Amino acid sequence: MRMSQLWAPTLRETPSEAEVISHQLMLRAGFIRRAAAGIYTYLPLAWRVLRKIEQIVREEMDAKGGQEMLMPVVQPAELWQETGRWDEYGDYMFRLKDRHGRDFCLGPTHEELITALMRAEVRSYRQLPLRLYQIANKYRDEPRPRFGLMRGREFIMKDLYSFDRDEEGLDVSYRYMYEAYERIFARCGLTTRAVEADPGEIGGTANHEFMVLADAGEDEVVYCTACDYAANTEKAESAPPPAPAARAETPPAEQVATPGARTIDEVARLLGVEPARLLKTLLYEADGQPVAAVVRGDHELNEVKLKRILGAKTLEMASAERIQSVTGAPVGFSGPVGLKGVRIVADPWAWAVADAVAGANAADAHLIHVQPGRDWQADDIADIRTVQAGDACVRCGAPVAAARGIEVGHVFKLGTRYSEALGATYLDEDGKAKPIVMGSYGIGIGRTMAAIIEQHHDERGIRWPASVAPYHVIVVPVNYEDQRQRQVAERLYEELSAAGVEVVLDDRLERAGVKFNDADLIGFPWRITIGPRALAEDAVEVTSRDGSLQERVPVEEAAAFVREQVRAALSA
Ligand SMILES: [Zn+2]
Repeated sequence: MRMSQLWAPTLRETPSEAEVISHQLMLRAGFIRRAAAGIYTYLPLAWRVLRKIEQIVREEMDAKGGQEMLMPVVQPAELWQETGRWDEYGDYMFRLKDRHGRDFCLGPTHEELITALMRAEVRSYRQLPLRLYQIANKYRDEPRPRFGLMRGREFIMKDLYSFDRDEEGLDVSYRYMYEAYERIFARCGLTTRAVEADPGEIGGTANHEFMVLADAGEDEVVYCTACDYAANTEKAESAPPPAPAARAETPPAEQVATPGARTIDEVARLLGVEPARLLKTLLYEADGQPVAAVVRGDHELNEVKLKRILGAKTLEMASAERIQSVTGAPVGFSGPVGLKGVRIVADPWAWAVADAVAGANAADAHLIHVQPGRDWQADDIADIRTVQAGDACVRCGAPVAAARGIEVGHVFKLGTRYSEALGATYLDEDGKAKPIVMGSYGIGIGRTMAAIIEQHHDERGIRWPASVAPYHVIVVPVNYEDQRQRQVAERLYEELSAAGVEVVLDDRLERAGVKFNDADLIGFPWRITIGPRALAEDAVEVTSRDGSLQERVPVEEAAAFVREQVRAALSA
């Protein structure tokens, strides 16, 4: 490819719409252009990278018994109504009608469609296991599409579905996919961490997210500084509180005036106690019923955990009016003592606070000397707090750290949720009909590309790992109009092309600085620079984008030298 013909419309300025590095660089380097919010056109350079990522994914899926296929984007509503997800997806689903008024959606995922396929086609245990996948567009009408390819409304995904006879079979499929994912992300040059995750709307029993740790990540993960434990913060378990030390009996609870003190900090300061001695009582409506969640004053409530404990479909913070009617007090003075007609869920750390301070359910008042079990009761004592950096690891007790992460892959054990809802059964050896046991396994292809940029860039541009670089090498004659430079450049370009190296020749009549800047911005892993000084000694400069290589190589040996660099990097 000649640079004069390569369509890579680079930009000098960073577009103001782009907040994260990968989005900025993909726009500036001429990889993507926005068509609508969260919907992008992939220009030629991006498409080359995406196809390489897809190919890595394909090879690793096939190595684990995956078979590639392609399912429709447009899916009938009936299947989604059978599993109940037509309603559950709500506004996230792109919906449409055909000319007869029948309902369809643009597939946000394909569990329904492929399970219906199994229902129609699989009869016997002899047909299992099956591992089927596709690489195709998915659609989710995100409320806040942002960060370029990180959270789009149309995006490319690999989704594999496993179908097994039983849980043991599913364990094998799950392990295969887990191993394949580790290889895929390593081959893409990514450092990832597999973390335990909340199942969300897909449901199921076990699941892991593969996270790229990067500041641009939308997820927060905690990981142990000593052992392997890592989890999405939404899901991370909190270690139980230490047994309370023996202490003098708590005096009777007593109401004190706390005029205008509504926040934990205000109350703590006014009464001269640590926030950890306070009970934070938050009122919610879960499926329309009032719920009070009690956590320790210095802890944060985790709504995802609370929702799961309650088994609620909807969970919303109660309005000020509702709080007034339930507690008899304005916002800021709620407490668990004497609260009637409300389900109380207490975090174990809150339940462990003896001689606590809590809202008095009266305006401008709090209670002191509040004792759990004596002054208040809980309907449930369950882990509902968000784990924070420095907390003890639930496995080994060492402190955990927190970091931001980009979810690039997700593996789920679905069990029989979909096969039961859709009636996908098989006849087992014993002649009995049993539901097929399923797993689903996704990788965001575009998001993987964005994550690679987040982990591989510098102030000048992208630094593609060789395995996914749009091209491996750029040949840059400092002055293409110089006859000798042009001759050597053309010759190296021909030799490398013939050797199967993906090479671009910068044949533009631009200043050298412009050409170097574009080469760095686009991120070619190797550059061969042909300039007058080295050429006077019949040599060229070979540099690598990551800075690890800078060598003067004789013209005669240059093509073989670079070819070997590329070969070694690709086989690493
Ligand atoms: Zn640990």
